[in-house]
Amino acid sequence: MTTTVDEAIVDRIEEAEFCSRVKRFLETNCNRIGEDQEMVGAEDADVIVRMKTFQGSLAEAGLAALAYPAGFGGAGLTKRHQELFDQASKGWYLPNSALYISHGMCLPMLNQFGTDEQKSRFMPDCISGATIWCQLFSEPGAGSDVAGLATRATRDGDQWILNGQKVWTSGAHYADYGLIVARTDPTLPKHQGLSMFIVDMRDPAVEVRPLRQISGGTGFNEVFFTDTQIPADWLLGGLNQGWNLAVAMLMFERVSIGAGGGAMNANRTPGLIRLAQDLGRSEDPLIRQALADLWIRERIRGFIGQRIRSAVQAGNVPGPEGSIAKLNGAVIARAIRDATMDLVGVTGQAWATDTDGGDRWAVGCLSASGISIAGGTDEVQRNIIGERVLGLPKEPDPYKGAAWETVPRN
Ligand SMILES: Cc1cc2nc3c(=O)[nH]c(=O)nc-3n(C[C@H](O)[C@H](O)[C@H](O)COP(=O)(O)OP(=O)(O)OC[C@H]3O[C@@H](n4cnc5c(N)ncnc54)[C@H](O)[C@@H]3O)c2cc1C
Repeated sequence: MTTTVDEAIVDRIEEAEFCSRVKRFLETNCNRIGEDQEMVGAEDADVIVRMKTFQGSLAEAGLAALAYPAGFGGAGLTKRHQELFDQASKGWYLPNSALYISHGMCLPMLNQFGTDEQKSRFMPDCISGATIWCQLFSEPGAGSDVAGLATRATRDGDQWILNGQKVWTSGAHYADYGLIVARTDPTLPKHQGLSMFIVDMRDPAVEVRPLRQISGGTGFNEVFFTDTQIPADWLLGGLNQGWNLAVAMLMFERVSIGAGGGAMNANRTPGLIRLAQDLGRSEDPLIRQALADLWIRERIRGFIGQRIRSAVQAGNVPGPEGSIAKLNGAVIARAIRDATMDLVGVTGQAWATDTDGGDRWAVGCLSASGISIAGGTDEVQRNIIGERVLGLPKEPDPYKGAAWETVPRN
């Protein structure tokens, strides 16, 4: 009994020391949210370099990838430390948003499915930000129905030869590596003939063409593969196991979008309340009602996130709750957009660039709908919740079990 009490005290002291270390790092290297934020999704090459440098300092301070093994570049601590870090960094802007896919999706995949050789080779640089990773799933004819994808990987001796096209690949223009799903056996039903590979995005046989968005930015790209060679030992997980891996990666994505710690899910209501006060609109009853509604929704998002993170901490793999978190995050993003536009009025729609900051509100507004699409649309999340949580009947599939190559495609 005495030992248990002593251990609990030691744990508390260790936790307090860890939190002070995090606090010191944040005070030295970061700004408070709202002070001097760079836009999420920044495409500027200088911003990417600054983000990589910041991530390098985080890794040097032993505060990157806290729960990942020290032997593969992580801090070798626990999920509890990650939880403490997330709590301590709430309200701080960590300038590493360009690494969101690297760390929120690719890193957990490498850690869970990589061979020791793959982990040793790729994880340390991914963690320190020396390399950035992207996710190559969607294709022009395969978004929601990603299992229908057509990019082919054909075995040729010690290599795989890749041919095909991906689209909406966020960050492909600054990524060093990507995780790609390709069809390795077209004679199998669509979910069974897929495999996941690591691909070198700097290979000259990979062509990246940026897409211009409604907001003016170029956050995502078309990517073309023409006889791109991939070493045979860059297959991640087993041959034709790509669908299971894709589902796992989508789950990491949904949890990260809907329930992750850090700036992505930082509460925006306090900033909007300050904005309402600055604009002299904080006594307007409709504005007050919208802000109170948002505050409640963000609190609920916090509870959903906490629930998922506790389940993960207890060793459980998140299931459809990832879809609930993601859908809820998308609904909140749109509510924030509407409340912001009500507050700033025409400044958010007809702004004078570099003078009134209105472009910031407009870009935020135009980007909000993307959250309802990225990582699986709201409709797809509702289908998952309907089928897997509420037990509703599955959508009929007339081609269930048919070889992929025999199924009509766009
Ligand atoms: C900001 C952003 C970033 C992205 N980043 C990446 C990335 O890094 N890597 C990547 O691979 N992809 C990325 N995507 C692509 C994204 O995953 C796809 O856009 C998404 O899965 C939807 O596919 P789609 O665009 O082909 O739409 P479609 O699948 O063609 O859907 C069109 C419409 O039909 C609806 N629909 C489709 N099927 C059903 C159904 N069964 N039931 C009900 N409604 C349905 C959809 O909800 C949607 O409204 C990104 C998208 C966005 C917006």
